[in-house]
Amino acid sequence: MKISNESIKDKVCVITGGGGVIGKSFSAGLAEAGAKIAIVDYNKANGDAAAAKINERFPASAIGVYANVLDKNSLIEAKKHIHDQFGKIDVLINGAGGNAPTATTQLEFLSNDNLNDLSKGFFGLDLEGFRSVFDLNFLGTVLPTMVFAEEMAGRGGVVINISSMNSYRPLTKIPAYSAAKASINNLTEWLAVHFAKVNIRVNAIAPGFFLTDQNRFLLTDKETGKLTARGERIISNTPMGRFGEPDELIGTLLYLISDLSKFVTGVVIPVDGGFNAYSGV
Ligand code: NAD
Repeated sequence: MKISNESIKDKVCVITGGGGVIGKSFSAGLAEAGAKIAIVDYNKANGDAAAAKINERFPASAIGVYANVLDKNSLIEAKKHIHDQFGKIDVLINGAGGNAPTATTQLEFLSNDNLNDLSKGFFGLDLEGFRSVFDLNFLGTVLPTMVFAEEMAGRGGVVINISSMNSYRPLTKIPAYSAAKASINNLTEWLAVHFAKVNIRVNAIAPGFFLTDQNRFLLTDKETGKLTARGERIISNTPMGRFGEPDELIGTLLYLISDLSKFVTGVVIPVDGGFNAYSGV
């Protein structure tokens, strides 16, 4: 086997949620490996800014493209634009996702001490908030895969989904996000099997804990910037003793996209400083 980045060079890669913290890091890593990157985000300004930054170092290698991952028509429009700029799509990274305060319980546990205010737990969750987080993470992976992966059938291609530690064991407070990420692992396996004979590989990365906009409100105090009790518990349950840096996901991403993993499909790889392996004792 030849070891090089040839199997990534000039590949057309679409990253949904590409204007976010992890998406930007993925895009930069892919540009360095010689790929063309379409940074798809519903925050067009973020996507454009991310693309402009990449183009400073690697001219004409990135574009920002508007689409909402929950709106099929906008994804179809985005695909047309990507075809015009770069040609057919080889790689899809389903990066749009996240949790929201509206789908988060205030309490970790219901107990006899707080039975007088059940609304702070599961019973008080707002269904719309719950649905929007579930849909963003689950349908927001299903729909872009329908739109962008279709042209990979037969030609070959790679789909990378973004899972989470919550997919193995749910964290307290965030039931919609946890359930949605568990469904991503299941979907990854289902799609891998369904697509195996038409040469589309489907795998997922399960990041551990990286400080980003979607989790900052849970892990750090808004006023002081110090770790919350929850943030501290995460660090003490991460054997490496720290949050990850988004760049530390790039190696796994490039491996899963390149021919180095050409017999690998249907797996979810944790990149987590040991969090998933640790029992806490
Ligand atoms: P982020 O909030 O920085 O980025 C998410 C991006 O997705 C944003 O640019 C946002 O504009 C975009 N987006 C949101 N909804 C969209 C929609 N409907 N259509 C199009 N774009 C949309 O978050 P991040 O930390 O970079 O997260 C990226 C992925 O990694 C998510 O799936 C997240 O669940 C997952 N993840 C993150 C962590 C972590 O610690 N940060 C851990 C595990 C998994």
